[in-house]
Amino acid sequence: MKWDLDSLFSGGSDSEALQRYVKKTEDDVAHLEQLVQSFTAPKHIDQTKDFFEIVDHMQLVMKELSEFGAFVGCLSAQDVKDHKAGQWQSKRTEMGARFGNTATAFEQKLVQVDDATWQALLKQPEVQELSFVLNEKRDRAKDLLELRQETLMNDLAVDGYHGWGQMYDALVGRMTIEVDGEELSVGQASNKLGSEDRTERKEVFEKLQNAWGSHSDLFSETLNHLSGFRLQMYKHRGWDSVLKEPLEYNRMSEKTLSAMWETINDYKHKYKKYLDKKAEMLGLLKLSFYDVEAPVGASHQKMDYQEGADFIVEQFQRFSPKMASFAEMAFQNQWIEAEDRPGKRPGGFCTSFPDHEETRIFMTYSGTPSNVATLAHELGHAYHQHVMNDMPMLNQGYAMNVAETASTLAEMIVADAAVKHAESDEEKLTLLEDKVQRSVAFFMNIHARFLFETRFYEERKSGVVSAERLNELMVEAQREAYADSLDEYDSTFWASKLHFHITDVPFYNFPYTFGYLFSMGIYARAMESGEAFEDQYISLLRDTGRMSVEDLAKKHLDVDIEEKQFWQDALELCAADLDEFMDLADKL
Ligand SMILES: [Zn+2]
Repeated sequence: MKWDLDSLFSGGSDSEALQRYVKKTEDDVAHLEQLVQSFTAPKHIDQTKDFFEIVDHMQLVMKELSEFGAFVGCLSAQDVKDHKAGQWQSKRTEMGARFGNTATAFEQKLVQVDDATWQALLKQPEVQELSFVLNEKRDRAKDLLELRQETLMNDLAVDGYHGWGQMYDALVGRMTIEVDGEELSVGQASNKLGSEDRTERKEVFEKLQNAWGSHSDLFSETLNHLSGFRLQMYKHRGWDSVLKEPLEYNRMSEKTLSAMWETINDYKHKYKKYLDKKAEMLGLLKLSFYDVEAPVGASHQKMDYQEGADFIVEQFQRFSPKMASFAEMAFQNQWIEAEDRPGKRPGGFCTSFPDHEETRIFMTYSGTPSNVATLAHELGHAYHQHVMNDMPMLNQGYAMNVAETASTLAEMIVADAAVKHAESDEEKLTLLEDKVQRSVAFFMNIHARFLFETRFYEERKSGVVSAERLNELMVEAQREAYADSLDEYDSTFWASKLHFHITDVPFYNFPYTFGYLFSMGIYARAMESGEAFEDQYISLLRDTGRMSVEDLAKKHLDVDIEEKQFWQDALELCAADLDEFMDLADKL
């Protein structure tokens, strides 16, 4: 149950091999800086030697920085007290920033290449396969202000923008909530919202509401200032839509986004019925916000680690033998850290070592069905990386909305099998509810975040939005997204949800829903096509880093995701679980 990190760099945070690797990476970063500095935009197709050299070298540095970052990430996760690992982490951040600046400077120089030379250049065999990504970089650079102004904005953003995000973290870190005479952090208190006891849920919910409410003047400051900065930045760049940045980052069109939300709206009535049924099962007239995720039954089924591993491999085998043998290899070679012990970071992740062409998975396994699902989920991420190993680094960069494709699919395969293997109806009901809950989170909770954020940014354009108004906007968005099913909403959710206060990517919401439904659509297709799907699936994954999501779906699934049909097929699959849940609930 413990992972092997020594085969990557032997000796943990004192590793000499790591020291040598970092030294080499530093030299390579410095060399890249020199190359970019002396680079001038080619005026003719014969002057492209420097360009090829930079692209090559850039990919080498990307590989090394990923490798280094992944290793120190693993070190700090396995032991939160490893201070040496923390120092390595700072080193990695500093080197990452140097690389980022160099890459920006290079991209700005690409704008100076005239279009004819640029098109001819992309046809050269050295870079032809990178043409989508290189084009994208040049186009994005075109949308920015000139280098001096962008540099000034980036420098001011450290304190004037990201600083507000850090202020938010600092404020939240200081908050405590007293529950049963104990001083809890907001994270600890929020965990108690999952209690089986409604009185306890209600009490904690109200205490949390009071806590967020009493600080809401401070959180409205942080939110208004960071969004104000963002809007000013957009205004100066001449960007009028707040969706421009997140949509481009996720390589998707606004039409696709609308088709997705519209189709979800068409299915809201079904989820409303589910929430009404759940209220009935809990003996309530209507659910409150804090009842939505409450457990309806208890699952007692446990699987030890070996059983969990065998179950996953067996289920993968039915879907894709290649994915199954990959999982088997990952278990055998100790790529997974799953031991349940103190001192580990909470949560789970999968991280890639592109230089070694390996991955590592981190989680804490205690035998619950949700642990098995998480393990399958992370193996899905690992498999996605595995099929991309031989590709150029620039083509391996996929965005958040497709990053969850392979993982969600792997998780679904195993969750479906768990439902089929349930030993009793009660067990089955609990496992089905797990699946329905995922849909509720993506179609209702995340939808509310999207509606809120869109409306908030619109109002923010004409001035500061007060805490009272933020509460109103939040409740309106939740009421709409939850199809008016609840009798009490979470008005301070805008303050408590970190995602609204993250400064690196805006709209940290719709990509989750996209990823979930996209993988559902693929799953529906996989079940139709049987064995033939395996290779088709691999080629789809390999293209996730080098085309728009519309092209990806067109090429591999032959569908137009700007139309509702694809989303309907995916939602039908989710609705089937919901129908089964409703029938079983009636029966019980
Ligand atoms: Zn994931």
